[in-house]
Amino acid sequence: MKTIGLLGGMSWESSALYYRQINEGIKTALGGHHSAELVMYSVDFAPIEQRQHSGDFAGNEAKLSEAAKSIEAAGADFILICTNTMHEAIPEIKKHIKIPILHIADATAEVIKQKDIKTVGLLGTGYTMEREFYKGRLKEEHGINVLTPDQTDRKIIHDVIYDELVLGTVKETSKAEYLRIIKKLAEEGAEAVILGCTEIGMLVNQDDTDIILLDTTEIHAQKAVEKALK
Ligand code: GLU
Repeated sequence: MKTIGLLGGMSWESSALYYRQINEGIKTALGGHHSAELVMYSVDFAPIEQRQHSGDFAGNEAKLSEAAKSIEAAGADFILICTNTMHEAIPEIKKHIKIPILHIADATAEVIKQKDIKTVGLLGTGYTMEREFYKGRLKEEHGINVLTPDQTDRKIIHDVIYDELVLGTVKETSKAEYLRIIKKLAEEGAEAVILGCTEIGMLVNQDDTDIILLDTTEIHAQKAVEKALK
């Protein structure tokens, strides 16, 4: 079994989901007392979040590159960055390590293509919904059309992530808003909706709607299990 490296803490609420889901995946595949070979570097999210909001992107690139180097030194064979948003730092992080990074958008695109879906809705932080590192990758590298909510709804999605979910707060009112926005994206032509923030699965899941939901945490964790066992 290969050793999985997790660059987590963004937030720790979702890193805990990764830890559980990866171990469950290994146990399902191998049975008995098997569990994952895994190293995790979990950052303090407060300075990361402050630098995101102040626009100090280089500061976050430097911090995450250092963490990735530590994960490599600890023996990981490949790395998962346990947040969609900070995938924006991958081009810089890659310069500092030799082991591969399992990209969350590529893992998700693979599932989308297996389902023969052409147009998806995307929910995530404002950075993920508005910048090109994620949407652009789905479109340019995988030929998938991406719809995002309008500006008012993007703000609702973003604020619920930073003011509630990363702090472990799950509110029925926010769930209702998310489900309203998911339905709207489907009415606009989305055949499925990407839960493109690793905490959204805490709020909504497939039991809540008939619209296909693609939970990036689950997909990413499952891909890690497959890669570790290959
Ligand atoms: N976990 C989130 C994501 O998947 C947001 C937290 C962050 O800004 O990294 O994008």
